[in-house]
Amino acid sequence: NLSVVYESSGFNALQAVDHVSFALEAGEFVGLVGESGSGKSTLGLAITRLQKPPARTNGGQIFFRGKDIRELDAETLRQQRQGGFAMVLQSGMNALNPVRTIRNHFIDIFRAHGHVGKSGWDARQIELMEKVGLPKETLARFPGELSGGMRQRVSIALALSLEPQLMVFDEPTTALDVLVQQAIMDTIKSLQKSEGFTAVLISHDLGVVLESTQRVLVMHEGRIVEDAPSRDILENPQDEYTRMLLSHYA
Ligand code: ATP
Ligand code: MG
Repeated sequence: NLSVVYESSGFNALQAVDHVSFALEAGEFVGLVGESGSGKSTLGLAITRLQKPPARTNGGQIFFRGKDIRELDAETLRQQRQGGFAMVLQSGMNALNPVRTIRNHFIDIFRAHGHVGKSGWDARQIELMEKVGLPKETLARFPGELSGGMRQRVSIALALSLEPQLMVFDEPTTALDVLVQQAIMDTIKSLQKSEGFTAVLISHDLGVVLESTQRVLVMHEGRIVEDAPSRDILENPQDEYTRMLLSHYA
Protein backbone atom coordinates (compact mmCIF):
# COMPACT_ATOMS: atom_id res chain seq x y z
CA ASN A 1 0.00 0.00 0.00
CA LEU A 2 2.89 2.29 -0.86
CA SER A 3 2.47 5.94 -1.71
CA VAL A 4 5.05 8.56 -2.58
CA VAL A 5 4.09 12.21 -2.58
CA TYR A 6 6.41 14.92 -3.87
CA GLU A 7 5.86 18.17 -2.04
CA SER A 8 8.48 20.18 -3.90
CA SER A 9 8.01 23.09 -6.24
CA GLY A 10 4.39 23.29 -7.31
CA PHE A 11 1.28 24.51 -5.50
CA ASN A 12 -0.15 21.05 -5.20
CA ALA A 13 1.70 18.05 -3.86
CA LEU A 14 2.14 15.40 -6.50
CA GLN A 15 1.12 11.82 -5.81
CA ALA A 16 3.77 10.05 -7.91
CA VAL A 17 3.03 6.59 -6.48
CA ASP A 18 -0.54 6.04 -5.43
CA HIS A 19 -1.37 3.19 -3.05
CA VAL A 20 0.57 0.52 -4.90
CA SER A 21 0.69 -3.09 -3.71
CA PHE A 22 2.58 -6.00 -5.20
CA ALA A 23 4.92 -8.81 -4.18
CA LEU A 24 8.10 -10.02 -5.88
CA GLU A 25 9.10 -13.66 -5.55
CA ALA A 26 12.78 -14.50 -5.23
CA GLY A 27 14.34 -15.07 -8.66
CA GLU A 28 11.51 -13.49 -10.61
CA PHE A 29 12.14 -11.22 -13.59
CA VAL A 30 9.37 -8.61 -13.67
CA GLY A 31 8.75 -5.76 -16.10
CA LEU A 32 7.43 -2.38 -15.02
CA VAL A 33 5.96 -0.43 -17.93
CA GLY A 34 4.07 2.80 -18.29
CA GLU A 35 4.32 6.14 -20.01
CA SER A 36 6.64 8.96 -19.02
CA GLY A 37 5.69 10.42 -15.65
CA SER A 38 3.63 7.41 -14.54
CA GLY A 39 5.87 6.92 -11.49
CA LYS A 40 8.12 4.01 -12.52
CA SER A 41 11.43 5.54 -11.41
CA THR A 42 9.89 6.83 -8.20
CA LEU A 43 8.66 3.33 -7.37
CA GLY A 44 12.09 1.83 -8.23
CA LEU A 45 13.89 4.38 -6.05
CA ALA A 46 11.48 3.69 -3.19
CA ILE A 47 11.84 -0.09 -3.19
CA THR A 48 15.64 0.15 -3.29
CA ARG A 49 15.65 2.90 -0.65
CA LEU A 50 17.61 5.28 -2.85
CA GLN A 51 15.16 7.95 -2.03
CA LYS A 52 14.39 8.83 1.53
CA PRO A 53 10.76 8.21 2.24
CA PRO A 54 9.40 11.70 1.47
CA ALA A 55 8.19 14.01 4.18
CA ARG A 56 4.52 13.42 3.62
CA THR A 57 3.12 10.19 2.31
CA ASN A 58 -0.03 8.28 2.73
CA GLY A 59 2.14 5.65 4.29
CA GLY A 60 2.57 2.13 3.12
CA GLN A 61 5.31 -0.38 3.76
CA ILE A 62 8.13 -2.10 1.83
CA PHE A 63 9.09 -5.49 3.15
CA PHE A 64 12.43 -7.07 2.30
CA ARG A 65 13.11 -10.40 4.00
CA GLY A 66 10.27 -9.64 6.38
CA LYS A 67 11.53 -6.21 7.56
CA ASP A 68 10.06 -2.86 6.58
CA ILE A 69 13.01 -1.13 4.88
CA ARG A 70 11.31 2.25 5.16
CA GLU A 71 12.13 2.14 8.85
CA LEU A 72 15.88 1.47 8.51
CA ASP A 73 18.22 4.11 9.86
CA ALA A 74 21.12 5.28 7.67
CA GLU A 75 23.73 3.02 9.27
CA THR A 76 21.62 -0.14 9.05
CA LEU A 77 20.72 0.73 5.47
CA ARG A 78 24.41 1.14 4.61
CA GLN A 79 25.16 -2.32 5.99
CA GLN A 80 22.19 -3.94 4.29
CA ARG A 81 23.16 -2.79 0.81
CA GLN A 82 25.61 -5.69 0.52
CA GLY A 83 23.45 -8.66 -0.43
CA GLY A 84 20.40 -6.39 -0.43
CA PHE A 85 18.85 -4.18 -3.07
CA ALA A 86 20.41 -2.10 -5.83
CA MET A 87 19.28 -0.03 -8.79
CA VAL A 88 20.90 0.81 -12.10
CA LEU A 89 19.73 4.39 -12.50
CA GLN A 90 18.08 5.86 -15.55
CA SER A 91 20.63 7.74 -17.63
CA GLY A 92 20.42 11.42 -16.84
CA MET A 93 20.21 10.71 -13.12
CA ASN A 94 23.96 11.39 -12.88
CA ALA A 95 24.78 7.88 -11.83
CA LEU A 96 28.47 8.28 -12.75
CA ASN A 97 30.72 11.08 -11.57
CA PRO A 98 32.53 12.59 -14.59
CA VAL A 99 35.67 13.51 -12.64
CA ARG A 100 36.24 10.09 -11.08
CA THR A 101 37.64 7.04 -12.84
CA ILE A 102 35.61 3.85 -13.02
CA ARG A 103 38.08 2.29 -10.54
CA ASN A 104 37.29 5.06 -8.06
CA HIS A 105 33.57 4.43 -8.45
CA PHE A 106 34.16 0.83 -7.37
CA ILE A 107 36.40 1.86 -4.50
CA ASP A 108 33.73 4.24 -3.21
CA ILE A 109 31.24 1.39 -3.08
CA PHE A 110 33.73 -1.07 -1.55
CA ARG A 111 34.57 1.46 1.14
CA ALA A 112 30.96 2.24 1.97
CA HIS A 113 29.29 -1.15 1.71
CA GLY A 114 31.80 -3.79 0.72
CA HIS A 115 32.79 -6.92 2.50
CA VAL A 116 35.90 -7.46 0.38
CA GLY A 117 39.16 -6.46 2.08
CA LYS A 118 41.40 -3.91 0.40
CA SER A 119 43.80 -6.59 -0.88
CA GLY A 120 40.93 -8.15 -2.85
CA TRP A 121 39.70 -4.96 -4.52
CA ASP A 122 41.72 -5.26 -7.76
CA ALA A 123 40.69 -8.84 -8.42
CA ARG A 124 37.06 -8.09 -7.56
CA GLN A 125 36.95 -5.14 -9.98
CA ILE A 126 38.39 -7.21 -12.81
CA GLU A 127 35.92 -9.99 -12.08
CA LEU A 128 33.01 -7.52 -12.18
CA MET A 129 34.25 -6.02 -15.46
CA GLU A 130 34.35 -9.53 -16.94
CA LYS A 131 30.82 -10.25 -15.80
CA VAL A 132 29.49 -7.30 -17.80
CA GLY A 133 31.77 -7.87 -20.79
CA LEU A 134 34.21 -4.98 -20.41
CA PRO A 135 38.03 -5.11 -20.62
CA LYS A 136 39.85 -4.38 -17.38
CA GLU A 137 41.48 -1.33 -18.99
CA THR A 138 38.08 0.36 -18.63
CA LEU A 139 38.82 0.76 -14.91
CA ALA A 140 41.34 3.53 -15.58
CA ARG A 141 38.93 5.54 -17.70
CA PHE A 142 36.63 8.44 -16.89
CA PRO A 143 32.91 8.09 -17.68
CA GLY A 144 33.21 10.67 -20.48
CA GLU A 145 35.73 8.48 -22.30
CA LEU A 146 33.24 5.62 -22.66
CA SER A 147 30.35 5.00 -25.05
CA GLY A 148 26.80 5.04 -23.73
CA GLY A 149 26.63 1.26 -23.88
CA MET A 150 29.90 0.91 -21.95
CA ARG A 151 28.67 3.36 -19.32
CA GLN A 152 25.53 1.29 -18.95
CA ARG A 153 27.68 -1.84 -18.45
CA VAL A 154 29.77 0.00 -15.85
CA SER A 155 26.59 1.01 -14.01
CA ILE A 156 25.43 -2.62 -14.00
CA ALA A 157 28.83 -3.78 -12.68
CA LEU A 158 28.72 -1.18 -9.90
CA ALA A 159 25.28 -2.34 -8.80
CA LEU A 160 26.39 -5.97 -9.10
CA SER A 161 29.34 -5.32 -6.79
CA LEU A 162 26.84 -5.27 -3.91
CA GLU A 163 25.73 -8.82 -4.79
CA PRO A 164 22.14 -7.66 -4.48
CA GLN A 165 19.21 -10.03 -4.15
CA LEU A 166 17.02 -7.45 -5.85
CA MET A 167 18.13 -5.44 -8.88
CA VAL A 168 16.08 -2.68 -10.45
CA PHE A 169 17.13 -1.66 -13.96
CA ASP A 170 15.68 1.73 -14.90
CA GLU A 171 15.42 2.09 -18.68
CA PRO A 172 18.76 0.34 -19.23
CA THR A 173 18.54 0.46 -23.02
CA THR A 174 16.99 3.88 -23.59
CA ALA A 175 19.15 6.23 -25.66
CA LEU A 176 21.22 3.36 -27.07
CA ASP A 177 21.15 2.13 -30.65
CA VAL A 178 19.25 -1.06 -31.46
CA LEU A 179 22.25 -3.39 -31.62
CA VAL A 180 23.68 -2.11 -28.34
CA GLN A 181 20.21 -2.36 -26.77
CA GLN A 182 20.07 -6.04 -27.69
CA ALA A 183 23.57 -6.70 -26.35
CA ILE A 184 22.79 -4.99 -23.03
CA MET A 185 19.54 -6.91 -22.62
CA ASP A 186 21.37 -10.17 -23.37
CA THR A 187 23.89 -9.31 -20.65
CA ILE A 188 21.15 -8.48 -18.14
CA LYS A 189 19.25 -11.69 -18.89
CA SER A 190 22.31 -13.91 -18.58
CA LEU A 191 23.45 -12.16 -15.38
CA GLN A 192 20.00 -12.64 -13.89
CA LYS A 193 20.34 -16.37 -14.52
CA SER A 194 23.96 -16.72 -13.39
CA GLU A 195 23.78 -14.43 -10.34
CA GLY A 196 20.23 -15.42 -9.42
CA PHE A 197 18.96 -12.00 -8.35
CA THR A 198 15.34 -10.93 -8.55
CA ALA A 199 15.03 -8.34 -11.29
CA VAL A 200 12.69 -5.47 -12.09
CA LEU A 201 13.07 -4.04 -15.57
CA ILE A 202 11.62 -0.56 -15.92
CA SER A 203 10.93 0.38 -19.50
CA HIS A 204 8.47 2.25 -21.65
CA ASP A 205 9.33 -0.23 -24.41
CA LEU A 206 6.79 -3.02 -24.14
CA GLY A 207 8.63 -5.06 -26.78
CA VAL A 208 11.83 -5.22 -24.72
CA VAL A 209 9.83 -6.07 -21.59
CA LEU A 210 7.71 -8.84 -23.11
CA GLU A 211 10.81 -10.40 -24.62
CA SER A 212 12.71 -10.62 -21.32
CA THR A 213 10.34 -10.88 -18.38
CA GLN A 214 7.93 -13.43 -16.96
CA ARG A 215 5.49 -10.95 -15.52
CA VAL A 216 4.50 -7.38 -16.27
CA LEU A 217 3.24 -4.61 -14.03
CA VAL A 218 1.59 -1.76 -15.92
CA MET A 219 1.74 1.60 -14.21
CA HIS A 220 -0.58 4.49 -15.00
CA GLU A 221 -0.76 7.78 -13.08
CA GLY A 222 0.97 6.30 -10.05
CA ARG A 223 -1.14 3.16 -9.85
CA ILE A 224 -0.49 -0.40 -10.94
CA VAL A 225 -3.40 -1.09 -13.25
CA GLU A 226 -2.35 -4.51 -14.46
CA ASP A 227 -0.23 -7.33 -13.04
CA ALA A 228 -0.11 -10.31 -15.37
CA PRO A 229 2.17 -12.99 -16.82
CA SER A 230 4.01 -11.53 -19.83
CA ARG A 231 2.75 -14.26 -22.13
CA ASP A 232 -0.88 -13.41 -21.32
CA ILE A 233 -0.74 -9.69 -21.56
CA LEU A 234 -0.81 -9.48 -25.36
CA GLU A 235 -3.74 -11.89 -25.69
CA ASN A 236 -5.77 -10.98 -22.68
CA PRO A 237 -5.19 -7.50 -21.20
CA GLN A 238 -7.63 -6.83 -18.37
CA ASP A 239 -7.30 -3.09 -17.99
CA GLU A 240 -8.51 -0.43 -20.39
CA TYR A 241 -5.20 1.44 -20.16
CA THR A 242 -3.19 -1.70 -20.97
CA ARG A 243 -5.34 -2.25 -24.06
CA MET A 244 -4.60 1.31 -25.14
CA LEU A 245 -0.86 0.80 -24.53
CA LEU A 246 -0.91 -2.44 -26.53
CA SER A 247 -2.76 -0.85 -29.44
CA HIS A 248 0.11 1.62 -29.77
CA TYR A 249 2.62 -1.19 -29.56
CA ALA A 250 0.95 -3.47 -32.15
P1 ATP B 1 9.98 8.44 -17.28
O1 ATP B 1 9.45 7.30 -18.13
O2 ATP B 1 9.95 9.74 -18.01
O3 ATP B 1 11.29 8.15 -16.67
P2 ATP B 1 8.63 7.76 -14.78
O4 ATP B 1 7.49 6.83 -15.03
O5 ATP B 1 9.91 7.17 -14.32
O6 ATP B 1 8.88 8.65 -16.08
P3 ATP B 1 8.83 9.43 -12.43
O7 ATP B 1 10.17 9.95 -12.77
O8 ATP B 1 8.73 8.44 -11.34
O9 ATP B 1 8.10 8.85 -13.74
O10 ATP B 1 7.92 10.69 -12.10
C1 ATP B 1 6.58 10.57 -11.63
C2 ATP B 1 6.04 11.96 -11.35
O11 ATP B 1 6.75 12.52 -10.25
C3 ATP B 1 6.22 12.93 -12.51
O12 ATP B 1 5.09 13.77 -12.55
C4 ATP B 1 7.47 13.70 -12.14
O13 ATP B 1 7.43 15.00 -12.68
C5 ATP B 1 7.39 13.74 -10.63
N1 ATP B 1 8.72 13.75 -9.97
C6 ATP B 1 9.70 12.85 -10.16
N2 ATP B 1 10.77 13.12 -9.37
C7 ATP B 1 10.44 14.22 -8.66
C8 ATP B 1 11.12 15.00 -7.67
N3 ATP B 1 12.34 14.67 -7.22
N4 ATP B 1 10.46 16.09 -7.18
C9 ATP B 1 9.22 16.42 -7.59
N5 ATP B 1 8.53 15.72 -8.51
C10 ATP B 1 9.12 14.64 -9.05
MG1 MG C 1 11.83 7.16 -15.07
